[in-house]
Amino acid sequence: LPADIFPNRRNSAGLDLSDPLEREPLLDRLHELDTRHWHAEPTFMSGAEGEVAPINKPHDLTAEVGTRRDTLDFEVEEAITRAEKIQPGWNALGGERRALLLEEAADLFEEHTDEFLSLCQREAGKTLQDAILELREAVDFLRFYAGEARRLFEGSIALPGPTGEENRLKLAGRGVFATISPWNFPLAIFIGPAAAALASGNTVVAKPAEQTPLIAALAVRLCHEAGIPEEAFQLLPGAGDVGEFITSDPRIAGVAFTGSTQTAQAINRSLAARDGPIATFIAETGGQNAMIVDSTALPEQVTRDVVASAFQSAGQRCSALRVLHIQDEVYDEMLEMISGAFEALTIGNPENLSTDVGPVIDPDAKAALERHVARRKKAGLQVWRRRLHRGANAGCFVAPTIIEMGSILDLRRENFGPVLHVVRFKSQDLGRVVDEINATGYGLTLGLHSRNDDTRAFVESRARVGNFYVNRNQIGAVVESQPFGGEGLSGTGPKAGGPHYVARFATERVVCIDT
Ligand code: GLU
Repeated sequence: LPADIFPNRRNSAGLDLSDPLEREPLLDRLHELDTRHWHAEPTFMSGAEGEVAPINKPHDLTAEVGTRRDTLDFEVEEAITRAEKIQPGWNALGGERRALLLEEAADLFEEHTDEFLSLCQREAGKTLQDAILELREAVDFLRFYAGEARRLFEGSIALPGPTGEENRLKLAGRGVFATISPWNFPLAIFIGPAAAALASGNTVVAKPAEQTPLIAALAVRLCHEAGIPEEAFQLLPGAGDVGEFITSDPRIAGVAFTGSTQTAQAINRSLAARDGPIATFIAETGGQNAMIVDSTALPEQVTRDVVASAFQSAGQRCSALRVLHIQDEVYDEMLEMISGAFEALTIGNPENLSTDVGPVIDPDAKAALERHVARRKKAGLQVWRRRLHRGANAGCFVAPTIIEMGSILDLRRENFGPVLHVVRFKSQDLGRVVDEINATGYGLTLGLHSRNDDTRAFVESRARVGNFYVNRNQIGAVVESQPFGGEGLSGTGPKAGGPHYVARFATERVVCIDT
């Protein structure tokens, strides 16, 4: 690929919180949104009564941010009928016109920055810094996939015709795509796959995570304001059963899912079991992400990057560091520095600017993490925990935790939260360490801190991961620069924000004309 296949596009600049002239007015505006009550409902409402669930702040379960009206089964069916009917017209619009609509949506997202930031904080429990990063990524996805619509869906590729015939290859939408998205990036990963599906000429029925439908509802409303037809992009809020009902419908041509490995496997089985066309399945799931630190690494840099990778976003990124491997010779020194930085983390209300670690998403997530830590303690492992602030009981707070253990293979599943495991290794065992990381079956992110080029080349060639980060943190992949996604138990591959993603939502057609 030529290096400059995406000319004239810049990622969004976000906001600079270190500048008081930018920060203070923003905080005032967010304060005004503190009491706004939000609502999410299906794009097309039938007159029927549906269940309405409250959406509360993860950091204060007594505070209601809004309500979610769940989609009924027959409303799902009607939504798919509408989406199917309009899809040929949406596809026929062509790449350029779809691109313009997605770019208009990106502009509207930026105009509604305050509401998005407020929702990221109140509905999803994100710190303001994380909220800003999330909005930037959402805007970047919209603009990047708009560019892809232009690049891939205008005209066709001429192919060789050795016997005189004319051969052309073109891409087209597959039909109706279902997008099922997670609560940990309730805006960016809600809009990213939907925008890619729309860019490719599909229509979309979108099921946001049950915990975070409000921010998705705002995103969909702005897409409609931008001119994307309501039938082409419909919101179907609800819990897991709504997702199951959507994906079991034989009219769904493809599913883009981000969430747990177990749910991805269940969707895959249900797609295989249903009648109708063989659906495309794009899944981005979890990781058992490791970092390797050898004796040539710079301790201050390691400390900063470990703490960011493991504890930023309360560890609720699928890229987050779960198992840190430190070389024997520097183990004690490194662990002491990391513990020092860990002790300095501020845990608390994500709506306070000084907070580093906010809540986890809900009581179930908290309970699962607490069970995991309790079991390790019971097994006699060394466990350090931060003490929680006063008032933490009102919300879903999990004390950041560091656990020493023998091997990454002692972990059965991903622990999605602020829990870091640390393993000691001897330099001659580096190959075994990489093999064990591979043997988890996951393959999402891997970090390496080393000044040794041979070590870097060795790990790079041996590790089976989607995103390998050297001498930096391992979170926060940037659209276009670090296309993101894993392999094995971590997903089906095409990387969000990369040059092959949008094409995976399309079907390929070849026309051969004999002269
Ligand atoms: N793209 C995000 C990152 O690089 C993670 C996405 C996710 O958690 O699903 O940190």
